[in-house]
Amino acid sequence: MTKALRGSISVGLQDMIANPDGRGPQQRRRARDRRGTPLPGIKQVLVQAGHLAPREPHFEAATGTTGEQQLVKAIRDKLVKMLDSDGRFVGMPVPGDIPDGVKVDAALFLHADGVSDASAGGFQFGFPVNEANRKLVANLRREFLSLEGHPKSRSDNSTGDARDYYGYSRVHSPFKVLVEHGFLTNPTERQWLRANIGNLARAKYEALCRTFTIPRPRSSRHEMHGLTGAFQHKEVNIGWRLGEAKVETRIRTKPGADEVLSKRARLGAIG
Ligand SMILES: [Zn+2]
Repeated sequence: MTKALRGSISVGLQDMIANPDGRGPQQRRRARDRRGTPLPGIKQVLVQAGHLAPREPHFEAATGTTGEQQLVKAIRDKLVKMLDSDGRFVGMPVPGDIPDGVKVDAALFLHADGVSDASAGGFQFGFPVNEANRKLVANLRREFLSLEGHPKSRSDNSTGDARDYYGYSRVHSPFKVLVEHGFLTNPTERQWLRANIGNLARAKYEALCRTFTIPRPRSSRHEMHGLTGAFQHKEVNIGWRLGEAKVETRIRTKPGADEVLSKRARLGAIG
C-alpha cells in the first residue's frame, strides 16, 4: 500500500468512467465530431481497410487479392475498437476511398499480398522514407516479430505499390505506413493471418503506444467504460509513490454491494 500520501475524494462517476486519463465526455465527443481536426493530447489514427468499397476514384478496379478485403477490414475494425476503448486515441476507420486532405496523427493502410506462386510469403511495410515513419515501422516490426508463427520479415518498400501508395498523398500526418501483412495465396500464411486478426490489431496498437511514448494500459479501463451511466456517485481513494498512482474506485451499486475498480497510472509529475 502507499505511504507517502493518502486521501479520499468524491467525484462524479461519469468523470471517472469517461475520463480515466484527464479527458471528459465533452472532449471525447468533440474529438469524434471533428475527425480530421486533432485535439491536443488525443491521437487520431486513420486506419484504412485497403480495397474496401467505396474505393478511391481511379482505383475502383483494384479490389485486392482474394480474401484481402475481409481480412483487412476485420483487423481494421478490431484496431479501431482498441483505440476507441483507450481514451488517449480516436480511431478513424476508412475504406479504399480516403477523405482528401484529412489531418491525423498517424495513418495505417492495411493490405495483404497475393501472387501466383503459392510459396511466396512474408510481411513488409511501405512508407515515405523519413525518420518518423522509420520509427513507427521499427515498432511495428518489433511487435509483428513477437507474434508466434509470424510470417517472415521482407524488406520494406520492395514494390512500387508499397513505395508509391496513393494514400500517402491523401493524408496529412507525420506517420503514414502501409502494412502488407503477408500472402493470402500462401496456404500456411493465409491460415495464420485469419487466426491472428486480434493479435495483428493488438500489435499495431502496441506499436502506436510505443511510437507516441504513451504508457500501455495496465488498468481496468475497459471494465470502466462498460459501466458508463450505470451509477450516480462513487468515492475515489488515491495513493501514490515513486511516480505511480493507484486509483481505487468504490462504487455503491445497491445497499451493501460495493464494487471496486482499480486503475494504476504512471504520473511523471509525482514521485
Ligand atoms: Zn492490397
